Amino acid sequence: MGSTGSIGTQALDVIARLPDFLQVEVLTAHSQADLLIQQAKKFQPNMVVIGDESRYEYVKEALWNDDVKVFAGARALDDVVRMDCVDIVLAAIVGVAGLSPAYRALESGKCVALANKETLVVAGELMTRAARENGASIIPVDSEHSAIFQSLVGEAHAAVTRLILTASGGPFRGLSREQLQTVTRAEALRHPNWSMGHKVTIDSATMMNKGLEVMEAQWLFSMPLEKISVLVHPQSIVHSLVEFEDGSVKAQLGMPDMRLPIQYALTYPARLDSGLPRLDLTQQSQLTFEKPDTEAFPCLPLAIEAARQGGAHPCVLNAANEVAVGLFLQDRIGFYDIPRIVETALAHAPACKPASVAEHLDIDRQTRQSIIQSYSK
Ligand code: NDP
Ligand code: MG
Repeated sequence: MGSTGSIGTQALDVIARLPDFLQVEVLTAHSQADLLIQQAKKFQPNMVVIGDESRYEYVKEALWNDDVKVFAGARALDDVVRMDCVDIVLAAIVGVAGLSPAYRALESGKCVALANKETLVVAGELMTRAARENGASIIPVDSEHSAIFQSLVGEAHAAVTRLILTASGGPFRGLSREQLQTVTRAEALRHPNWSMGHKVTIDSATMMNKGLEVMEAQWLFSMPLEKISVLVHPQSIVHSLVEFEDGSVKAQLGMPDMRLPIQYALTYPARLDSGLPRLDLTQQSQLTFEKPDTEAFPCLPLAIEAARQGGAHPCVLNAANEVAVGLFLQDRIGFYDIPRIVETALAHAPACKPASVAEHLDIDRQTRQSIIQSYSK
């Protein structure tokens, strides 16, 4: 799901290298119909879904000669993930749009390789319960969580004392609050180590991404928030660490290339030759670590506080952040308007505990509407 995105296209690179191990059954895109058609012609899936229904005829026409079924719209996503021919669902849609299909995949007992961290942020309890109750598994794709997942292989949960998520610090690491007031969209999109979709790139610049990842880790590894910490590591070589009862710390290292965690999630527990450049530590002049600057990057503590509050707060935080990032990408608001919008939305979070996908999506919708209304005045 999300085959035309940054994770999706890199996943297809991985799959193309491992034809004996991985076959594509379904591809889904939202607006990039031409790229979806090109991918379908190359990988010959059983079916494709184009989210934007107005492009259905166009995609169908282009694939009429290929043996590929074409569907359109959000509901089709919920259906294709349940098909018997599907073993693993790579959830690589961006934002809350990926929630319903990822949930349906877990409900039908599939293995979900999860890149779409927003789904766990918004509905972590619901998603992990669906996995537990239906014998489904969630394998992380996010590089930090993949590192933790890899470090936990063979270890007992009770022996873990701390998860340490590393953060590159993004393009604005080291800048003061004052200097950050005037940063632009173009500067925020220039990530030093990773080439990613726009939304996660802006989240990295505000460090909201790390806050979302703390919540993701909380649910993926059943870990209380007090046992999860964040460490800034600008070189993005140490992808994250786990500390154990005896004081020992395990980490996973690698070049900053998402194809590695994507492949691990798709082939787990097997490790196969990835053909990717190898890490040569003699070529890394230094690996450095520092504390995050929560004054300059208030999105990080905002997210952790929302996680602590629980209930509707994480869902409101995510919705407000998605809208704010969208406004920032349209040059309609400044950098610090992102945490301001999120904080205001959280102050008005409803005092309820959403229990179903529909209830989460309701809160998401209400939060978006109230922010969008105030910006359309
Ligand atoms: P992109 O923006 O590059 O891609 C998003 C994908 O989702 C595209 O295929 C897009 O389709 C599809 N999509 C967008 N909106 C909808 C919708 N409403 N309904 C259905 N499909 C939709 O994002 P990334 O690949 O960067 O990120 C995907 C997820 O992975 C995010 O949650 C991100 O946080 C996470 N992640 C990404 C990393 C990275 O390196 N990129 C690293 C770690 C996590 P189309 O393009 O056709 O419109
Ligand atoms: Mg990450």
